[in-house]
Amino acid sequence: MPSTPSVTPTIPERLWIANAWADAAGGGTFATSNPATGEVLAQVAAGEAEDVDRAVRAARGAMEDPEWRGMSPHRRAELLWKLADALEAEADELATLETLDNGKTFFESRKVDLPSVVENFRYFAGVADKIQGNTIPVAGPFLNYTLREPLGVVGCIVPWNFPLSLAAWKVAPALACGNAVVLKPAEQTPLTALRLGELAARVGFPEGALNVVPGFGSKAGAALVRHPDVDAIAFTGSTPVGKAIMREAAETLKKVSLELGGKSPNIVFADADLKAAVRGVSTGIFYGKGEVCAAGSRVLVERAVYDDFVEALAARAQKTTVGDPMSPDTRLGAIVSEQQLERVLGYVESGKEDGARLVAGGERTTVDGRGNFVTATVFADVDPAMKIAREEIFGPVAALIPFEDLDDAVRIANQTVYGLAAGIWTRDIGKAHRVASQVRAGTVWINTYNQYDSASPFGGYKQSGFGRDLGYDSALEKYTQVKSVWVAMDR
Ligand code: ADP
Repeated sequence: MPSTPSVTPTIPERLWIANAWADAAGGGTFATSNPATGEVLAQVAAGEAEDVDRAVRAARGAMEDPEWRGMSPHRRAELLWKLADALEAEADELATLETLDNGKTFFESRKVDLPSVVENFRYFAGVADKIQGNTIPVAGPFLNYTLREPLGVVGCIVPWNFPLSLAAWKVAPALACGNAVVLKPAEQTPLTALRLGELAARVGFPEGALNVVPGFGSKAGAALVRHPDVDAIAFTGSTPVGKAIMREAAETLKKVSLELGGKSPNIVFADADLKAAVRGVSTGIFYGKGEVCAAGSRVLVERAVYDDFVEALAARAQKTTVGDPMSPDTRLGAIVSEQQLERVLGYVESGKEDGARLVAGGERTTVDGRGNFVTATVFADVDPAMKIAREEIFGPVAALIPFEDLDDAVRIANQTVYGLAAGIWTRDIGKAHRVASQVRAGTVWINTYNQYDSASPFGGYKQSGFGRDLGYDSALEKYTQVKSVWVAMDR
């Protein structure tokens, strides 16, 4: 893999509304920068309420235009497939853009994110023409049938950790179901979402079907949630913002789906393949710099193997190369922003103050004297009551907690307000399934971690939210509504 970008990406700087670039009405811009160097990549138009309104009107226009509203499902499928092809053709460029904007390694952007984005659009291309209602046997001389119809205008608000992937998770099914979309990317990482809008137009999506309005959450995001002509909000982000969105959306009774934070337990039993478990736990927390909602940030380890495990994980963490995200040797890229770095380091301090044992990392570092980097961090002897065991850090910080037996593991695993994911490492298949059924989490990985597929639903229990991304049923549940039609047959 090249150590410098093999392509120089086009950097979009304006809003994407009705298949055209536009400036923000108020003329405002914000800087998006490369977290690995601090260099400003672009001054991007900062959408506000007026811009969101323009985008919503464009989306509503598409919903009323026969070109989109009346488009055959087969043609929608074809467009989604073409969009996947276009994304694939530009994968090098888009992955480079993602890495420059987010700080994640080029390996992750190019080998994981982009292929999964492409696959996502292909999967939902397959869904587009398989959306249908039922014929229902009702009493009386009536024919009753249901239609599954689009919701209308869907606002998709996504965070900065997987900018293009999470946009795809929402935009692909929303479009497959025939909705028009206004996408609000995170202010830290607006670039690939804007390219997505442009590519959608290029392959033939009509005006207004997909609009992209970058801007701040408190301005563009809030305006989208408030807008009376938006039918639904599909959100991925932090739990506090999810709560605020739900409160605000109540005013106009929008359908809301929320994929929120997590403090996911990764549970290692003494009978596990310990080498595999160390690898899996390490990926579970260090992949994506730990800026992953499903990160396995609480590592629960059975007492009998606890000391060995602590040692092995610490050794692995110490070997995790922090560096230039474009370098093929780098495993841990740059933390997305200075603010996020401060937050992570604040939690490291809190862990130390609370008496957890720092066995690896915990240090800020730089590359060529620049950038927001932190070393892979492992705390041992963490008490479940400590802040680092309760709060989402969203950084490469593992909290190791010993447990005594299965019941103890399940009790600690569920001792959280979150319920996004859980990992289980054991060779005992019965135990694995028992724990899987007892853990309150939307996804459980057994002897693996961080597996995703467009066909398998992903979302939270408890304060990790509700509604599922990915999967056929989830798409229908989330992006369509059911109309019941009655026909009198005796007159
Ligand atoms: P993170 O902690 O991952 O940055 P946030 O929840 O702050 O997550 O942000 C996720 C997305 O939500 C971003 O696109 C952000 O701009 C947006 N956002 C933040 N605050 C609001 C808000 N009050 N209303 C709507 N969107 C918001």
